[in-house]
Amino acid sequence: MTRKRIVILGSTGSIGINTLKVIERFPQQFQVVGLTACNNYRLLEQQIHRFAPSHVAVAKQGMDYLRRHVNGRKTKISDVSADIEEIASLTSADMVVIAMQGSAALKPFLSAVRAGKTVAPANKEALVVAGNILMKEAERHKARIIPIDSEQSAIFQCLEGQDRRRLKRICLTASGGALLNVPESRFDQLAVHEILRHPRWKMGKRITVDSATLMNKGFEVIEAQHLFRCRVEDIEVVIHPEAIIHSMVEFQDGSIIAQMGITDMRLPIQYALTYPERWKSGLKGIDFFKLKRLSFEKPDLEKFPSLALAIYAARNGGTLPSVLNAADETAVDAFLGGNIPFTGIYKVVEKVARKHTIVRSPSLKDVLEADQWAREEARGFIYH
Ligand code: MG
Repeated sequence: MTRKRIVILGSTGSIGINTLKVIERFPQQFQVVGLTACNNYRLLEQQIHRFAPSHVAVAKQGMDYLRRHVNGRKTKISDVSADIEEIASLTSADMVVIAMQGSAALKPFLSAVRAGKTVAPANKEALVVAGNILMKEAERHKARIIPIDSEQSAIFQCLEGQDRRRLKRICLTASGGALLNVPESRFDQLAVHEILRHPRWKMGKRITVDSATLMNKGFEVIEAQHLFRCRVEDIEVVIHPEAIIHSMVEFQDGSIIAQMGITDMRLPIQYALTYPERWKSGLKGIDFFKLKRLSFEKPDLEKFPSLALAIYAARNGGTLPSVLNAADETAVDAFLGGNIPFTGIYKVVEKVARKHTIVRSPSLKDVLEADQWAREEARGFIYH
């Protein structure tokens, strides 16, 4: 059996580390050919020694360090800001895992689909910002996209082997984030550490804040709309605090298929890597007798207006999702830096979104310009 050759963009973040944990269990089946990171070059160095990729890329300040500490004849070291697209489209790679955060993933994502690679995105921003462009290019170049984000992976799994034309709706589940049971009257005084305490998933800071506002779920609506080519009206967000069901799909006949599992990212990562097969994960399963019940709630759009705003952006499309993402990232950074209160995040994003003139059927240049514009506008509102 030939080994599946894998590139991981963002190998030192939590998804990247978990991807390598999965790969480590199956040394006969997988081979790491490329790794990229930003600043964590010491962890990248360990990963190079362990997995011996032929190509790595890192931020400039890490390049000298790596050149001194790793064997340059076996591993080519390059600059991540200049060469990430090249690594995303390496001839020697079969699959590209997009584990990096932010809209910086957009260009390498595009380069991987144009090279016809199988792409496994955990990154949300690229699909939010340029979902239409990415999906069209993937179709043109016959690049398969197997999502890693737990909800999108669940929907993907539920649709496997089904006639997609018979899909009635998608139930996108949400744990509800850190504030599900916190009264709205307290929102103005919430400290950063209270927001960063997510009840179910351990994730990066921005996505944890986005989970608290439910903006993250709104981004997932936009993502799902592109990945599964469905109308926004056919996607329903369902609050499910136990986070055991990772999402569900309902078909025309009324049957609903749900995907369940423990909250461990290694599950959707492994599924993407081994697709269409399923291998032993070594992870423990669900004990239904301990669990006893699963519960569901309708999201409160007044308490969490970011979700309503994101659904509005999903419906209107064009450059608006790009603006939403950029304004949100800027506002979340400002909140994390202590410059605005928690409730200021929505206010900033809403103001920027309202001011934006949507460009329909945008080009890549249009979405990137909208992204820049929104960041400047958001900074203007925050730091005026
Ligand atoms: Mg998710």
